[in-house]
Amino acid sequence: MFHVSTGDIFREEIGKKTQLGQEVAGYLSAGRLVPDKLVLAVLKSRLAVETRGLLFDGFPRTVDQAEGLDSWFAVRGQSIDAVLFINVAEEEVVRRLGARRTCSGCGRIYNVLTNPPAKENVCDACAKPLTLRDDDKPEVVTRRIQVYKDQTEPLLAYYRASGNFHKIDGGLAPEAVAAKVADLLKR
Ligand code: AMP
Repeated sequence: MFHVSTGDIFREEIGKKTQLGQEVAGYLSAGRLVPDKLVLAVLKSRLAVETRGLLFDGFPRTVDQAEGLDSWFAVRGQSIDAVLFINVAEEEVVRRLGARRTCSGCGRIYNVLTNPPAKENVCDACAKPLTLRDDDKPEVVTRRIQVYKDQTEPLLAYYRASGNFHKIDGGLAPEAVAAKVADLLKR
């Protein structure tokens, strides 16, 4: 299984200060979506020769992206095995994002409430300082939630109609959510 997070791809490009990174940085820091055409172009170029099972994370985020994925997969002779909707209540999303910390060195993710590092603000794995993502700041989180409601929520109706849609209770503990995801993907 090959994990493909469009957010990770964009953060990596921003970190490397590539042209793409400069193009998308403003969208990420403002909590807005990167334009659909650019998202699809980046994925297509990154995954041109990738044949392993793909696990998309944070993609698609709009109906246009989902349609783009469908037509791209049709050309590649691939199809979607399962769509997983991990549902978390809005107050819990705000609580979790406010407590999330990311290592500035290796990218490992912590949560100061549920999964803190041994030493405050220092990565257990590489000893680099932990940071709060720019878009996990409260004012940007509010914008991201609104963007989700306006542009991403309509995807639920799109995929519910597809028959391979699964809703998972994301309010459970991380291990329980992971077990449910693993179980669904095994089928
Ligand atoms: P994430 O790490 O998935 O929370 O994504 C962080 C940010 O990257 C989002 O708030 C968007 O600005 C951008 N982004 C990631 N994935 C997408 C996508 N599929 N479509 C548009 N923008 C995206």
